[in-house]
Amino acid sequence: MMHVMLDLETLSTRPNAAIIAIGAVAFDPERMEVLTTFEARIRPSSAHHYDRHLEMETLAWWMHQPDAVRAQWDEGGMILPEALSDFVDWLHFFWPGEVTAVWGNGAAFDNVVLRDACRAVKGSAPWSYKQDRCYRTLRALFPHIEEPPFEGERHTALADALHQAKHCMRLLAALRTEAQPHA
Ligand SMILES: [Mg+2]
Repeated sequence: MMHVMLDLETLSTRPNAAIIAIGAVAFDPERMEVLTTFEARIRPSSAHHYDRHLEMETLAWWMHQPDAVRAQWDEGGMILPEALSDFVDWLHFFWPGEVTAVWGNGAAFDNVVLRDACRAVKGSAPWSYKQDRCYRTLRALFPHIEEPPFEGERHTALADALHQAKHCMRLLAALRTEAQPHA
């Protein structure tokens, strides 16, 4: 069984947000193991190409982040089509049929934004809507399950994705044993 946790760093909160970093973590929730990770940075000066959206509130938020977070503004990064191709290659390494779920932090965010970018650039996304899962919803249903300690810098794509994947595995384990979500 393989699940994927996504975390994007973006310049907008809309579905067609410009993306500057993609973090993804493949994990096996039954064995409670992280399998492999993916990270890509997208050149901010090209991030608005392909009709991607920028908004002032999000840019202002970025201006107030610590250096380690703003380091993701990387003009040495890829252009969006290269980053998405690398992501698809990484995902297809485990394909076909083995990815059972693609998680994002919010029903309307990471999965929606990455799918929209894939459609805009490549015509389609490499996973089905049937595989979409929301980590934020799962977390809200099990507020008593503690998060693991955060490693690295919050608001950096791979560190966020890793943290969410580890917490998600704890939450899914609770779901298997308790089956009593606090709805
Ligand atoms: Mg993040």
